[in-house]
Amino acid sequence: MNATHTVTNQVPPLVGHDPIAGDTALVEACLRHADELTLDSLEDLGALAGSEQAAEWGRLANENPPRLRTHDRTGHRIDEVEFHPAWHELMSAAVGHGLAGTPWALAEAGDAHAHVRRAVGYLGWTQVEAGHGCPVTMTYAAVPALRRAPELAVVFEAGLTSTSYEVGLADPRAKAGLVAGMGMTEKQGGSDVRAGTTKAVARIDGTYHLTGHKWFTSAPMSDVFLVLAQTEEGVSCFLVPRMLPDGERNVFRLQRLKDKLGDRSNASSEVEFDRTVGWLVGEPGRGVRAILEMVTTTRLDCVLGSASTVRAALTQALHHARHRSAFGARLVDQPLMQNVLADVAVESEAATALAIRLAAAQDAGETDFLRLAGAAGKFFVCKRTPAVVAEALEVLGGNGYVEESVLPRLYRQSPLNSIWEGSGNVIALDVLRAMERDSASVAAVLAEVEAAAGADDRFDAAVARLRAELADPADLPLRARRVAGQLALCLQGSLLLQHAPGAVADAFCATRLAGDWGSVLGTLPAGTAVAEIVDRAVVAPV
Ligand SMILES: Cc1cc2nc3c(=O)[nH]c(=O)nc-3n(C[C@H](O)[C@H](O)[C@H](O)COP(=O)(O)OP(=O)(O)OC[C@H]3O[C@@H](n4cnc5c(N)ncnc54)[C@H](O)[C@@H]3O)c2cc1C
Repeated sequence: MNATHTVTNQVPPLVGHDPIAGDTALVEACLRHADELTLDSLEDLGALAGSEQAAEWGRLANENPPRLRTHDRTGHRIDEVEFHPAWHELMSAAVGHGLAGTPWALAEAGDAHAHVRRAVGYLGWTQVEAGHGCPVTMTYAAVPALRRAPELAVVFEAGLTSTSYEVGLADPRAKAGLVAGMGMTEKQGGSDVRAGTTKAVARIDGTYHLTGHKWFTSAPMSDVFLVLAQTEEGVSCFLVPRMLPDGERNVFRLQRLKDKLGDRSNASSEVEFDRTVGWLVGEPGRGVRAILEMVTTTRLDCVLGSASTVRAALTQALHHARHRSAFGARLVDQPLMQNVLADVAVESEAATALAIRLAAAQDAGETDFLRLAGAAGKFFVCKRTPAVVAEALEVLGGNGYVEESVLPRLYRQSPLNSIWEGSGNVIALDVLRAMERDSASVAAVLAEVEAAAGADDRFDAAVARLRAELADPADLPLRARRVAGQLALCLQGSLLLQHAPGAVADAFCATRLAGDWGSVLGTLPAGTAVAEIVDRAVVAPV
């Protein structure tokens, strides 16, 4: 066959990089809030995350989404979800490297940086594939909630904090490693969990029978679930195992799997309970409080997950721009492309800095700070992500829009963290609630903001606007997004002014805190050190 053309100027695949050790902003955040030892302990995970093998697992897990098997060959209900082996490889790597419940055990054993270690690992590793981050997160978040029921924690905590990933249905008390899920959302309402209609009836043996449904329950192959149901006392929280101690399957009818926009490697199901056995977690009628323990922790992971998605998109965009030429020069060397890449890099560094700061608050037990900063961060970082990923996608031109690139996958994933664990409005209203109820939270967040006072006039002006916004009681619910957004921006500004190079902090202040920001990315003003920002953001090859 005659060759019709020579293929040139196409970009080689991105493999052989290290999204942890090669990411300067992430490394600096890790060293700031933890130490060299912590960073070194993530060496193998970082190398795996940048490998061809891991990229292939990510592709396969998404191109072969989970399948529901409700019945076996003979018509018995089995309610199983079948995954591609690549999914299990991803899960095994994440759990094996301590990204699920492990930090709680390490912290108890005296590791002062257990949560930062996990956060840095999670931010780096989930760039490979975001969907499996969901069960990893829920397992992490189940531990503090379960501690409300010490008699249950003593049985299940070892499994939830273990580094073993054990596939298959078995008595959770006998498994070396456990995965946890949660069931709150029902058909009539997700945000308003008090509207749940699932009923729980106490039994003579101290357990409860749950009857009702959940409209969304992700990772339905998990071993145990934290589930909300109504008792006489009100909304209560239960631990529901899939397998009962006597070796019988608990009733956990999977009705359907959701056909989702993204997050396709992960299964999200509709479940029905029919006298399903559950153990009470905490006091009856105090279920919202118990599950909030879990949700506060999953919100931290929403920030980490979105920072991860933004970073993954940025890495792809930088790689493309460094290998692709147009009009006689590499894209990365052309001023307007440098502006776009630098602006995305600033967004990525701000998200990373805030995410790891939140994890450090978990290590330090700064609950007041975490309560408010976590909610504001979840609102803002997750809300920004789709726009930032779209811009990174466009750096690849048409190649970014086709499924052979990972950008479509990142783009489809990008709105999700803003929806679950408190959708945008709900989380913004929660920011107000945290401020009203807990003046210590406001004080803790403002103390972090004020740590950069005087470093930049534009920042000082933004903080003054924030203080005026907080002091104004008029129409607060209407202004909730403004308040949450400004809180997050001032926090990010403070962190960057304290810790990032001047070029990054200056670009952030010139746009996010002043000027006409709110339009499109790639509009950093003249004089911004775009080349320096881009250089810093490049993930060095291993
Ligand atoms: C892929 C995926 C997986 C999921 N997995 C799980 C899971 O494992 N377990 C689980 O329990 N749930 C899960 N969910 C459900 C998710 O947590 C809910 O969808 C979310 O909490 C919103 O609830 P809802 O869908 O009922 O929307 P609604 O509560 O009806 O809210 C709709 C909209 O109204 C807004 N809103 C609500 N109240 C107010 C108000 N007072 N003022 C202004 N605006 C308001 C919300 O912000 C939202 O934008 C999952 C969802 C998705 C998409």
